[in-house]
Amino acid sequence: MIRLTDTLTAGTRPLEPLEAGHVRIYSCGPTVYGPAHVGNFRSFLFADLLVRYLRYRGLRVTWVMNVTDIDDKIIRGAAAAGIGTDELAERWLGRFLEDAAALRMSPPDVLPRATGHIEAMVDLIEKLLDREHAYRTDDGSIFFRIASWPAYGRLARLDPENLRVGERVEADEYGKDDVRDFALWKGPKPAEPSWDTRIGPGRPGWHIECSAMSMQHLGPSFDIHTGGVDLIFPHHEDEIAQSEAATGLPFVRTWLHCAHLQMGGAKMAKSTGNIARVSDLLEAGVSPRAVRYALISVHYRQASSYSDESLAAASAAVERLDALLAALRAYREDGPGDSTLEDLLDGARAAFETALDDDLNVSAALAALFDLVREINRRIEARALSTADADRVVEVLRELDAVIGVLPDAVEDLEPELAALLEQRVAARAARDWAASDRLRDELAGHGIAVEDTRDGQRWRRAVEAGRG
Ligand SMILES: [Zn+2]
Repeated sequence: MIRLTDTLTAGTRPLEPLEAGHVRIYSCGPTVYGPAHVGNFRSFLFADLLVRYLRYRGLRVTWVMNVTDIDDKIIRGAAAAGIGTDELAERWLGRFLEDAAALRMSPPDVLPRATGHIEAMVDLIEKLLDREHAYRTDDGSIFFRIASWPAYGRLARLDPENLRVGERVEADEYGKDDVRDFALWKGPKPAEPSWDTRIGPGRPGWHIECSAMSMQHLGPSFDIHTGGVDLIFPHHEDEIAQSEAATGLPFVRTWLHCAHLQMGGAKMAKSTGNIARVSDLLEAGVSPRAVRYALISVHYRQASSYSDESLAAASAAVERLDALLAALRAYREDGPGDSTLEDLLDGARAAFETALDDDLNVSAALAALFDLVREINRRIEARALSTADADRVVEVLRELDAVIGVLPDAVEDLEPELAALLEQRVAARAARDWAASDRLRDELAGHGIAVEDTRDGQRWRRAVEAGRG
């Protein structure tokens, strides 16, 4: 039984998908106007961990992550670069996907772009106009009337009479009736992209994008909506209001919000320049697997600190896993094997699952994993395992890593030319040709493969700091 903590009700409840066995998830994705930083990726990788775990548990998951490819920042960025908004968005979407792949984020099932869903947004806005939850202003903009929606403010626990005016709300001054109202549609302006639609020319507001895209791909009611805590207000509050006002149906069953990533004691945010970019880290040779580990290893509702120390600790953790895998791969021992191994593996798997069932408690799950690592290392040292036992442990580690996603590639995934070099080195050592053996070791090191000779023969692993693992 998987339990999750819902921001709206502030309660932890069992996950019961609206459709049995099928979980539908929407995650607020990137606004593609510049490079993503690790703070953005903490939230995306938290959603990835959730998706991976639900799949590990045998559930079918449909995961939608949107791409905001039109907004004020994209318009400003494109103007500054002297290119079109579509060109700018295309460029940064490409970079985002590269970073996401390097950090092993599962590809979302649908990655809808705002500019490809204008029709769905217009439909939604028409419904809101018909139901008098929205009104037009003189410049062709359309606003949501917050006074028409008494439930407004429940997600963020706001007093509706004293609503804090959010940053993006302030930016939406187009002559509205009430300062709290937010733009669904922005009337056309010179030098801004504009769409000719049934509700008039203009472009969508940011909030309506997510309502339209989530409901188009997941239906009017779906199971889980994720995002960073900074999106609770006004973005998600506005999504609930406009979606439920348009459909008359409950929008989302469970809201999950990921806490901020801190760096140097402050929130990581592009607006303050307090950021570490994924691409810069990777170019500096930091292992993407270590970055991933650093970003996922703290429970999503806890603030997490990013620092050189946290990255070093993550590297060390990944290296421990790599070293165990290398030892198991090389391990050779005839004999009856370890009769208590299956119990040990079952216990580790149970502890791992119990932790993740409990609101995705990843730190407890990783503790269970590293307890297993310690115990297996002890049994390798004692030569207690058989060769078949070692293979069995690798199998279980790979099963658990389907959730965590940091183990190095499987042996079968090694590039054939590198596999050939490893074989040549085994042959050279058998022939006692130490010069050739050393030369091959150096050559492999140049490809990021570290080789070590043990009583079980040659062990190899990808160097964590080589930036490619
Ligand atoms: Zn969103």
